[in-house]
Amino acid sequence: MSTPLDFSYETRPARVVFRPGASVTATPGEVARLGLHRVLVVCGSRGETTARAVADALGGACVGVHAEARMHVPVEVADRAVEVARELGADGCVAVGGGSAIGLGKAIALRTGLPLVAVPSTYAGSEMTSVWGLTEHGAKRTGRDLAVLPRSVVYDPELTLGLPVPLSVTSGINALAHAAEALYAPDASPLVSLMAEEGVRAMAGALPRVAAAPGDLDARSRALYGAWLCGACLGATTMGLHHKLCHVLGGTFDLPHAATHTVVLPYVLAYNASAAPGALAALSRALGTDDVPRALRELAGTLGAPQSLAELGLKEADLTVAAAQTAAQTYPNPREVTANGVLGLLTAAYEGWDPRSETPR
Ligand code: NAD
Repeated sequence: MSTPLDFSYETRPARVVFRPGASVTATPGEVARLGLHRVLVVCGSRGETTARAVADALGGACVGVHAEARMHVPVEVADRAVEVARELGADGCVAVGGGSAIGLGKAIALRTGLPLVAVPSTYAGSEMTSVWGLTEHGAKRTGRDLAVLPRSVVYDPELTLGLPVPLSVTSGINALAHAAEALYAPDASPLVSLMAEEGVRAMAGALPRVAAAPGDLDARSRALYGAWLCGACLGATTMGLHHKLCHVLGGTFDLPHAATHTVVLPYVLAYNASAAPGALAALSRALGTDDVPRALRELAGTLGAPQSLAELGLKEADLTVAAAQTAAQTYPNPREVTANGVLGLLTAAYEGWDPRSETPR
């Protein structure tokens, strides 16, 4: 007998504009719509040229470009950006770039209450969430606050044309991870599940095309569309074992964010498979496969992404520590998380074994 529907769903007041060229053609209008006249544009050093083009399009509505974003938002980087925003009398912030640039924009919004417009250039999905992160003394703190949710998100697939293929692939699989865990989240709901399935279908279909022809605007557009949907799933639900484990691997062992998600996802899905049949069925439909973990690993492998945690620089001695840290925390997951269970999946991911679904222990 099936279970009656039982869910809560809350829409967030975020606006999305999606079109080629929108970073320069639509951002000024979005800023004006919010009544802003003195925005600070933030970005990372590698994204400065793109951010300056957005700043030029903003003309007199932009008071400066601050190109100091760094991965995981070190607290001193956030402090400096807040200082700059105050010195310049900014009345809003436009973050142009990947999760790191948007993370810095969120840190400014958190501290100052200034409204944020996000112009993402990767598939990480931060622009669709109210989650902020700050790193201090090597430890990353995260939290949720509606003040950091971008008021407007401008998706411009042209910005992603130069995203290198290896990063496009891992960032795309990072997005798939959001959708996968949203499908078995305790706060999943029918609309989010539809977005997750469509997001996986769009992203998994687009990535081989992006890898084959990185300048194919249509393929880039489909990937960014998938990233939007997967990011919306991340923003609407509570993530489980996969995100927690990647947080530990990134935070404690400094592994690269998107590549870590890419390696770990098949193994976590194999671990959770027997406890989340509905989620696995949706992923099977979206990926056109009977074996989701293996198909995801093959997708990554075919597109040249890393296949093991050893390749990413993790040491064998770190596995037990990572497993204990991951098992010690509290978060929802469809299958019970034990230190032994995590160690088993981590060992497989470390070696890059064929991911196999297991029955619950
Ligand atoms: P990133 O922003 O650090 O970007 C990775 C690299 O790609 C950088 O060197 C950047 O300059 C470069 N880059 C970005 N866009 C480019 C483009 N279009 N062309 C060429 N180069 C480009 O990495 P990311 O994976 O986007 O974001 C990771 C960070 O975001 C992590 O700190 C993660 O924790 C955070 N994140 C937060 C959330 C959230 O909801 N708060 C969600 C996802 C990720």
